[in-house]
Amino acid sequence: MPIVHLADMINHANRHNYAVGAFGVSGLQFVEGIIQAAENCRAPVVLNLIESNFENQEFELLMPAVTAAAQRTAVPIAINYDHGTSFASAERAIRAGCNGVMVDTSALLFSDNLWQTRDVVAKAHACGVTVEGELGYVPGVEGENAKHHPGELTYTSAAEAAGFVERTGVDCLAVSIGTVHGRMKGVPKLDYARLAKIKEAVSVPLVIHGGTGLSDDQFRKLIANGVAKINYYTALADIANRRIKENVAADRKGGHNALLSGVSDAVRVEVERCIHLWGCSGRAAEVLAQCRPWHDAEHVMFYNVPETLSENEIATLLREGKKALEAIPGVRSIRASRTIRSDAEYSYCLSVSLASKTAVEAFQNHPAYLRFANTNFWPMISDHITLDLEES
Ligand SMILES: [Zn+2]
Repeated sequence: MPIVHLADMINHANRHNYAVGAFGVSGLQFVEGIIQAAENCRAPVVLNLIESNFENQEFELLMPAVTAAAQRTAVPIAINYDHGTSFASAERAIRAGCNGVMVDTSALLFSDNLWQTRDVVAKAHACGVTVEGELGYVPGVEGENAKHHPGELTYTSAAEAAGFVERTGVDCLAVSIGTVHGRMKGVPKLDYARLAKIKEAVSVPLVIHGGTGLSDDQFRKLIANGVAKINYYTALADIANRRIKENVAADRKGGHNALLSGVSDAVRVEVERCIHLWGCSGRAAEVLAQCRPWHDAEHVMFYNVPETLSENEIATLLREGKKALEAIPGVRSIRASRTIRSDAEYSYCLSVSLASKTAVEAFQNHPAYLRFANTNFWPMISDHITLDLEES
């Protein structure tokens, strides 16, 4: 099960002077292509779930497939939620199984960006989840033509970056040094001197958004100047689109499957090119050895109820419990069940699935949990045992 902590993966790249790719996912063809590339190159990889890609498909339905695909590989994988638009986005991402989140408040004033990012960090770190902040403004939207999107590029200042990282506690920082999201008009001019200064000023790894359209030489210089993660999507989307158009041209009467034929392979080829160029190929084993594995955790309560408690009262108790507990950050799902054997030591079970073992601790100290447990649950039941579990 090689899902690993995202921060550990990026820190490894940072220590060893290469950049890990965070490749944008738009459907299963992308997931398959990206993972196949990582396996072929024995490379760590980040599956990047970009919020704007989920306007026409359901994030919660794709995530179980993303997680299953990551879990059955032999290479280290992290799952990041990118460009969330609100704190609720981050909560949703953590609930669905992402182990890294980025809520993009970079278009706001410095102080608003700082306070909102700090809030995301507090909640995400309580669940063990990595947080990426962004300072300076990288205009455009992933996968779209940058010229259609308003907004002026604002460069990141090294002095502000140092204060931002220290005061927010982010694990990595996306910087603006000349790239734009989406397709670029003209040749991008990158400010390497600024990048080197930022690198000097901050303690966390740096991230570049808007990798599409950069030359091999530009990528090499970005990495030489301290970039440890590169977000890359538009080029993959363009390659997938081109393949679909070729399929149509080759067979105008082709069905849906014929239309999508070869898309994941085309994505794979481009991801492999990036992996080689960015220096991640052959790194899988050392990353697996040096990064913490990412495991879901579970808080399980087995319990009995007094005979005087009616079925209705039990149902009400569980309904209220679910409602109260589901709102706690890091809770992924809650399941109430009862034994199928009449001679079992405990008749009922309430099982809370959590994002990580860090999230278990935060859960048990959360006011909503303490209120439900102390006021409603423990006084109503007769005896119980509680277990905190992690996959072994
Ligand atoms: Zn971005």
